[in-house]
Amino acid sequence: MAQRPGRVTLGYLCVLAVSFAAAMTAGWTPLARGIDGSAYDWMFQLQPPQPWEPGSIILAIDEATLTQTGGTRHLRRELAKGMKRLISVRPKAVAIDVILTDEADPAEDTALETAFRGTPNLVLPSDLIPSPSRWEDPLPRFRKYAAAVGHVHADPDPICRTLVLYKVAGHDRRWALSLEAFRLSVLGPESALIVESPKALQIGSTTIPVSRADAALQIRYLQPLPGGASRIPAVSLTQLNQDASLAERFRGKAVFVGETALSQARDRLMTPYQQTMTGVEIHAQAYETMAHGQFFQPASNLTVAGFCLAITIAAGFVFFYFTGWPAYLLGAVLLAVAHAAPHIAFSRNVIFPYLAPVLAAWLSVVGAAAWMYFVVRRQLYQSESDKARYQQAIHFVTHEMRSPLTAIQGSSEMMGRYNLNDEKRKQMAQMINSESKRLARMIQTFLDIERLTDGQSEIRAEPFELQQVIEACLQRAQPLAERKQIELRVEELDTFPLVGDRELMEYAVYNLLTNAIKYSPPETIVTIRALGHGQTLRLSIVDNGIGMDDKELRNIFKKFYRTKKAETSGEVGTGIGLSIVEQIVQHHGGRMEVTSTPGKGSCFTMVLPRGTVTQPAPVPKLVSN
Ligand code: ADP
Repeated sequence: MAQRPGRVTLGYLCVLAVSFAAAMTAGWTPLARGIDGSAYDWMFQLQPPQPWEPGSIILAIDEATLTQTGGTRHLRRELAKGMKRLISVRPKAVAIDVILTDEADPAEDTALETAFRGTPNLVLPSDLIPSPSRWEDPLPRFRKYAAAVGHVHADPDPICRTLVLYKVAGHDRRWALSLEAFRLSVLGPESALIVESPKALQIGSTTIPVSRADAALQIRYLQPLPGGASRIPAVSLTQLNQDASLAERFRGKAVFVGETALSQARDRLMTPYQQTMTGVEIHAQAYETMAHGQFFQPASNLTVAGFCLAITIAAGFVFFYFTGWPAYLLGAVLLAVAHAAPHIAFSRNVIFPYLAPVLAAWLSVVGAAAWMYFVVRRQLYQSESDKARYQQAIHFVTHEMRSPLTAIQGSSEMMGRYNLNDEKRKQMAQMINSESKRLARMIQTFLDIERLTDGQSEIRAEPFELQQVIEACLQRAQPLAERKQIELRVEELDTFPLVGDRELMEYAVYNLLTNAIKYSPPETIVTIRALGHGQTLRLSIVDNGIGMDDKELRNIFKKFYRTKKAETSGEVGTGIGLSIVEQIVQHHGGRMEVTSTPGKGSCFTMVLPRGTVTQPAPVPKLVSN
């Protein structure tokens, strides 16, 4: 018998649900974050932004500057000089990424203080000191001329993809240095407001889509020039101090001042382009991202989960409704969609995780395909064995037909060949008549059963008494029972009106009765009990026979199924009987109940409703496939 659709669907749904759950769970692990990050870098390199004219410039404390100042000792003197040069070209903002927390040479500090006094939109850095966390600010003499103080911490991951736009120490929150530089260059120092909402920051007409929870800005790094040089221009501090004309390059720009010397730069980080970058340039790049409005937005968890679910459901549909190469082709399309989705999202400035959708697609496609493959194989195996059993049954039936045929043949031959007396002739004619009737009955029953299982025949709906059915069956089964010296004992026999097909009901009861006799040892008792309770009748046939275990009990109503013990008992059978009994009982509005213990016996009970006459109804398809 074919696999029940209900079971197939439930198992199939389980496979899909597990695929989805596994993909979502895996998507939250640190490993997934690493894979998603690498995929992000890869897409970054594949789809770099269109280059634009940078609005920022770096005033670099490079090797040459450090040689000039003797390391950091006289840096403030040089810085003061450079700042003074910048004042005249009115930069948009000047953000300093140089530590100014300690006192140095008083004359140099005074010079720097004077330079800062005239610097427009000055942003100074403050360092976050951990445990207990606090801010280390520039000296008050510098700070008082700063339009803002910003934090200078970039993403601590091995690859710097984001900049956290605010950091908190105690109750003191600081915006990022680059954000402050951007604010001042857009709004100026007077209107100091950054408007916050749960999902964005608003600065003038620019909306920065960062959530209040993590405030992580994805830095849209400008692609390096072919030789690997940065697109953000840089001018050495010492060169600026030597050549006043270089100051022109800073006009109207946001200036980021910081160390770029390889020997000094303590904060070199890796970018998605797989290049190291100094902290000051990372701030400048973040500024460019904001100034150019090139924002990425991470896809919400709900969107990701929805997409993964859609992929899983699609895989489910594909392998449920299609088979063979169309199914595999559509499965491959789904995999391609899952792989392409993060790329397509990236081109629309949305960051979509890579692992979760790809895993959801692979697991559900492979899971669904494998499930269907095994189910189909199993069904094929089932139908093969059904066919074999069916052939066996046909063989059995034809074998059964042989005995009446032989009798008819023999009798008719004798009648033709010998001169028999009237008495003998009459006897022979009677034998031919009864044997051909038996043959006709056998053929009729076989055809009825076939039609019934095919759902072609109609069930009659006529009233009859159960008692009569049982009595008829007992009479027919008596010779069988006697052969094994089995007693057929009727314990209770309530009168109970039924409506339906009396002949089919007789077939069903007779089948249960002969089974009880067949599968019991000689000299035992088979008990029949018919108890009417209100609207329900329970007709039980109890034997002390070979019995069955739980696994066998689950299968006995399947067509052509026979237990091992039955096969080896020496009793002939086809394994069709019970499947038909169940269908007959169901078509009379009832059900079958069976209890059994191996080696002890079985109890088959028909539970039937009290009959009311209804119109005959066509029998629906009886066998599930
Ligand atoms: P069969 O022609 O083999 O008797 P059935 O469909 O009537 O076919 O029964 C199916 C199988 O259920 C039997 O082959 C036997 O293994 C088992 N069975 C049925 N009735 C009994 C019983 N009373 N005791 C033990 N096994 C039974």
